Amino acid sequence: MQVLKGAEVSARIKEQVQEYLSGEKTAPKLAIVRVGERPDDLSYERGAVKRMEAFGLRVQTCAFPADISHEEFMEAFSRINDDADVTGILLLRPLPRSIREREVEALIRPEKDLDGISPVNIAKVFSGDETGFAPCTAEAVIEVLKAYEIPIAGKRVTVVGRSMVVGKPLSMLLLKENATVTICHTRTADLPGTCRQAEILVAAAGRARMLDAAYVGQDAVVMDVGINVDGNGKLCGDVDFDSASEKASAITPVPGGIGAVTTAVLAKHLVQAARRQKQTEG
Ligand code: NDP
Repeated sequence: MQVLKGAEVSARIKEQVQEYLSGEKTAPKLAIVRVGERPDDLSYERGAVKRMEAFGLRVQTCAFPADISHEEFMEAFSRINDDADVTGILLLRPLPRSIREREVEALIRPEKDLDGISPVNIAKVFSGDETGFAPCTAEAVIEVLKAYEIPIAGKRVTVVGRSMVVGKPLSMLLLKENATVTICHTRTADLPGTCRQAEILVAAAGRARMLDAAYVGQDAVVMDVGINVDGNGKLCGDVDFDSASEKASAITPVPGGIGAVTTAVLAKHLVQAARRQKQTEG
């Protein structure tokens, strides 16, 4: 059984980023936009800042109080969006309920929307157009499969989860790679049976250690997107790693798997944004 480590995939992406940077005078800049102090946001922000700095990219955090009004936030966000020095934006979500998230998604410039939240980028992911940006986590799953040379075309892939952040866009990316995709959710009739048929099983349900060996087909590849905290305060995935390992041929750990690749994909998107913006200007 092979453990698919995120660090090795990130290192490859780092090389690609640094190759781009070697020919540039100024590094592209990421603006991280955060409203409030949610621990999940702070932890993701710390990881993203660390990663950008390690890759030699510029990063700036724009933090706003949780009680900011919709109008004030939209104005502040517009300024960041229009700032010529900001190459790309990562908006930490969910936003407080007082802010109408849909309006922010419509406002963000598609060419700076590194995590694929704008309707333009979502449409591109669903139509198989690679000129946009897919959500970083969804793309991280594809990056890991490709880095480990795991064939996707023609494979039966089951994705557990249908959110707009992970499950749905990832299913479209897998379809683009010519997988035969099944999408599962809380109303799926026989979840263990459907999962067992998969040659590649992707867990993105947000349920700590929910998928054990009973959900894994013999020699399946298991990709665990989940980031959960268990009853003992320990970080864990949606997959019961020890149990699933008995049947899987390869599996991503949590932590150290998909999560470790997500911010590397963010860095890759930042460089892609810089390249594309330069082409448009030139
Ligand atoms: P959501 O809560 O938005 O969606 C969860 C999905 O899983 C829903 O479609 C839901 O079905 C389905 N689901 C939940 N429980 C079950 C169940 N018992 N059986 C079958 N399906 C179920 O979560 P996200 O998509 O935002 O995130 C999923 C996981 O990925 C979380 O653990 C999250 O922390 C992690 N994550 C990791 C990231 C990373 O960088 N690695 C980034 C983003 C998220 P239904 O639609 O029917 O409700």
